[in-house]
Amino acid sequence: MRNLMIIMSTFALISCQAVHVDQPISGTQGSNNVLASFVVENLGDGIYVHHGAHLDIDEGYQGDICNLSFVVGSKGVAVIDTGGSLKVGQQLREAIRKVTPLPVLYVINTHVHPDHIYGNAAFLADAPQFIGHDKLANAMETRREQYQKLNARLLHEDAIGSELVKPTMVVKDKLTLDLGDRNLELTAHPVAHTNTDVSIMENKAGTLFAGDLLFIERTPVVESDIKGLITELEELKNSPAKQVVPGHGPVTKQWLAAINNAQHYLNTLLTDVRVSIKKGQSMESAMDTAAATEKDKWRLFEVANRRNVNTIYPALEWE
Ligand SMILES: [Zn+2]
Repeated sequence: MRNLMIIMSTFALISCQAVHVDQPISGTQGSNNVLASFVVENLGDGIYVHHGAHLDIDEGYQGDICNLSFVVGSKGVAVIDTGGSLKVGQQLREAIRKVTPLPVLYVINTHVHPDHIYGNAAFLADAPQFIGHDKLANAMETRREQYQKLNARLLHEDAIGSELVKPTMVVKDKLTLDLGDRNLELTAHPVAHTNTDVSIMENKAGTLFAGDLLFIERTPVVESDIKGLITELEELKNSPAKQVVPGHGPVTKQWLAAINNAQHYLNTLLTDVRVSIKKGQSMESAMDTAAATEKDKWRLFEVANRRNVNTIYPALEWE
C-alpha cells in the first residue's frame, strides 16, 4: 500500500509539473549554483517534449536547438530525436528516468541533421532499436567528417563522445511500433527537408511528430527539395492528429494553420526565387529580396532565408 501511494504521489507530481534535470554548465568554474536546466514539457497521456533554444547552427549553437520527445507506453519508451551531443542525450535520458523505469525500446531519428542525432550515443546502454529512414545510415556516413568538424568547432568538449549511431532498423515506407497501449506509425517521406525525413503518428493521444517537415516560429529550412517539402506538408494535412509536435517550436493543436504558415513561406520563397531567375538577377540579390514579405513572421529569418535561397536557386535555374 505504501509503495502504491509513493507511486501515485510521484505520478501526481509528474502529471502537473514539467520535469527538470539540473546540470552544472560545463566550463563554469567555482560556484556550483549556475545550472542549466533541462526542461521537459508534459503533454499528458505519456507524451513529453523538450524544446531546444531557437539558435542558429552558426550562432551560439550548443547542441540543444530542436524538439526532443519521448512516448511512454505500457511496454516501454520510444524516444524521438536525441539532441546534438552526447550531453544533451544524457540529459534527455535522465529526464526519462525521472518519469518511468520502463525500458527504452526505440530511439527514432526524424532525419540526419546533427542537432537531432548526436544524442543517440547516450542510449547505447539501453540496447534499443535505433530507427530511421532507409537512407539515414548512408546520409550519416557521407556527412560524418563534416559533422565531426562542426561539432568540434562549435561544441568543444561536448563533441567528445558525441558519436554517430546508425539505425538498426529502417523505415522504407511505413513501419508500426508496438508500445503496448499504443502504436507508433512511422512514415518515410520522399525527398523534402532532407532525403531522410520520417514522421511519427502516435495513436492514443493522437500526436503527430512531424520532425523538420514542420517548423513553427522558427524559419523553415530547406536542405533538399522545396517542392517536395511543400508536397509532404500537404500530405501531412491528411493526418488524424489532435496535436502536432514540430521539429522546432511549440506543440500545437492548431496544426493545420501552422502547416499553412510554413507552406505560405515556402511558396513565397519559391515564387520569388523563380521571378529573380527569370529577371536574370544574381543569387546574391535574390538572397536580399526573396520572401522579404515573410520576414517579420519568423525567427532567425535573415540567416535561414539566405541559406534557403542558396540551396534552391541553383536547382531552380535548371527548371
Ligand atoms: Zn533539420
